[in-house]
Amino acid sequence: MNDITAAQYLHPPYLNGKAKGLLIDGQWVPSVSGKTFATTNPATGEEIATLAEADAVDVDRAVAAARRAFDGPWRKTKPFERQALLLKLADLVEQHFDELALIDTLDMGGPITRTRAAKRRAVGLLRFYAGLATSVHGETIENSIPGEVFSYTLKEPVGVVGAIIPWNGPLGLAIWKIAPALAMGCTIVLKPAEQASLSPLRLAELVMEAGFPPGVVNVVTGFGPAGAALAAHPGVDKVAFTGSTETGQAIIRASAGNIKRLSLELGGKSPDIVFADADLDAAVPGAAMAVFSNTGQICSAGTRLFVERKIYEEFTHRVAEYGKTLKVGNGIDPGTQIGPVISSGQLDRVLGYLEAGQREGAKALSGGQRLSGGDYDKGYFVPPTVFAGVNDQMTIAREEIFGPVISALPFDDMDDLVKRANDTPFGLGSGVWTRDVGKAHRMAGAIRAGTVWVNCYQMMDPAVPFGGYKMSGYGRESGVEHVHEFLNTKAVFIKNS
Ligand code: ADP
Ligand code: MG
Repeated sequence: MNDITAAQYLHPPYLNGKAKGLLIDGQWVPSVSGKTFATTNPATGEEIATLAEADAVDVDRAVAAARRAFDGPWRKTKPFERQALLLKLADLVEQHFDELALIDTLDMGGPITRTRAAKRRAVGLLRFYAGLATSVHGETIENSIPGEVFSYTLKEPVGVVGAIIPWNGPLGLAIWKIAPALAMGCTIVLKPAEQASLSPLRLAELVMEAGFPPGVVNVVTGFGPAGAALAAHPGVDKVAFTGSTETGQAIIRASAGNIKRLSLELGGKSPDIVFADADLDAAVPGAAMAVFSNTGQICSAGTRLFVERKIYEEFTHRVAEYGKTLKVGNGIDPGTQIGPVISSGQLDRVLGYLEAGQREGAKALSGGQRLSGGDYDKGYFVPPTVFAGVNDQMTIAREEIFGPVISALPFDDMDDLVKRANDTPFGLGSGVWTRDVGKAHRMAGAIRAGTVWVNCYQMMDPAVPFGGYKMSGYGRESGVEHVHEFLNTKAVFIKNS
């Protein structure tokens, strides 16, 4: 199925030059101030759409609409109805997936092969949470109170959810927030990232087409202050956030006013560990793509590559050579494997780390500087970079770069390795490459991170929980645990006679 014609490929109908509004109470409206901003294509630097810029007053209206919907029709919907609506939305997303993928490629730079391949996950998430709409319940609990006292729990939606997402996977992240909230009977105000709001906006059109009542899903586009207004709003019961650790800390502070529930998926500096006994033919591309996928713009990227010393030189060389084979370019070209980074600001940030690496004595085996010449000069292109000769104290081994940069570190002894792998404020992802099942189990137990991938990296499934230890955040997304983030538990005691 392909819902985009060849002619529409470069000019999708959604990018029709009309300014996009905010979705509040089922209506597409401009911001109260009338302010707008542009979103650009990071492969070309071109402005591709104009969006409404929300500030606190628009957020206030969206929260009020979400509250009315929560107290009104939505609170009375049955689990089966919510399930049917989510399944309808899943069908619509499936039908329009080529368009949604294309919008993401143009707005955030991801290669079209990658944005299209996200279909299974996006549609799968919607159907998974649709299933949970009818299958998560309270309990009857046998108690030890003298006399005849019956006790049970009710699972109730927390209420109005504020969801704030980054730009590195706009469509998937929007679905990952909206679907569990709706399945559990919450209403939502979504604040997409200013760099890439278009697919969440198009998704919101499909939400309305699916038949969700007005006000159940609201979308406010804008910058940090709009997110901050949502995080501080007394009418918001819970904030679900994915983004940087710094912004996560600001959200924790902002949430104090009404003691909001929070779930936070933040930064990372994940260890990816290669033992000499690993299947190196699988580990080379595996370790490379653990970082280079999405141009390194994934919070769980395996950027600290620990390699057992006896294969360090050979392995790092092979990863660098693999990186050189990857085609970097405009994501609209079906041959492109690595797109641009998101913005000129992000480009400067990544280039700053490339300089810091070289200044502090690391050696770039591949990449190491901006790609230039021809079409590269229009966008923000950094080639896959492998730094060897890195030590644990270097800036590139400690800070999250969010670019296609591997810092390769040798190791000898396993106990020492565990200490070094865990010597980071973060704890999101991790990888282990070995043929020895004992080592795999030992490492899986020893690494302090929310996910351990063995002989693979970055696998995700709607049914398997994902989230952070330490400063990578708290709360889990995916799995049955996820929906409990959107529920309150109420205990009821009933005394007979
Ligand atoms: P990045 O550095 O990757 O852009 P951010 O954490 O700054 O990550 O951004 C993630 C999301 O958080 C975006 O939607 C952004 O607009 C929003 N945001 C930025 N600052 C704040 C803030 N102080 N409070 C709430 N949301 C914010
Ligand atoms: Mg953009």
